[in-house]
Amino acid sequence: MDETGPGGPPPDTDEVDFPAHQAARCGGLAELDGEIARCRACPRLVAWREQVAAHPRAAFRDWEYWGRPVPGFGPSDAALAVVGLAPAAHGGNRTGRMFTGDASGDFLFAALHAVGLASRPTATHRDDGLELYGVRVTAPVHCAPPENKPTPAERATCRPWLAAELELLSPGLRAVVALGAFGWQALLPVLGEAGWPVPRPRPAFGHGAELALPATGRRPALQVLGSYHPSQRNTFTGKLTFDMLVALLTRAAELAGLPRTAPRRP
Ligand code: SF4
Repeated sequence: MDETGPGGPPPDTDEVDFPAHQAARCGGLAELDGEIARCRACPRLVAWREQVAAHPRAAFRDWEYWGRPVPGFGPSDAALAVVGLAPAAHGGNRTGRMFTGDASGDFLFAALHAVGLASRPTATHRDDGLELYGVRVTAPVHCAPPENKPTPAERATCRPWLAAELELLSPGLRAVVALGAFGWQALLPVLGEAGWPVPRPRPAFGHGAELALPATGRRPALQVLGSYHPSQRNTFTGKLTFDMLVALLTRAAELAGLPRTAPRRP
């Protein structure tokens, strides 16, 4: 990586401009993922993720928690991106892989498998062999926040990572699913900054909401879909059922041009 630049030496990993400085310099997703994983730009989230890692839940006391930012997961030529909220304290923050090891991820990966976008319906740890086909799962905030609530300042600090990830995916990216209102609200400004003509006022979030962003000189056309987040609050109450999520992901896969496969049950 280039260690010099017009603004002088690169910031330390714990400086607030580390993401903005480093993200745009990454030439590929592997490099970006490595830079994300060493970010310490949000003091409150760094303290939280490390405190949680130092005090595992009883069920996970044999685990060595990841305790760092969790990069996106999936192939670098994905045509479909799924954008969530942030890693869970004892999920992604434990396993080091997005949506892996928590109930939301169990629901999401089972649905991706049912649509033919994942090699298996379960995700338990980084080396479990799970592969995603044509889809990349990521989040606008890469560190587990207390009570799953990042502050506006933390969201803004982390935004360059998602912007760079979508930029690197953009040659082949055709559709994005935003999970929950937070994912939707976090995603649209990033897409606007990346060059897609996002209308103002920004369209409201809803399950099944679709936003077609036309191609511009720099970008191919992109379809944005809203889905309720597969949190237990939504899945336990039936607000989001498995069939609803499968139907939405099937629609997203079609819009992304991904091959159709026979429905599979977990
Ligand atoms: S939330 Fe994002 S910007 Fe903040 S420390 Fe984690 S990776 Fe860095």
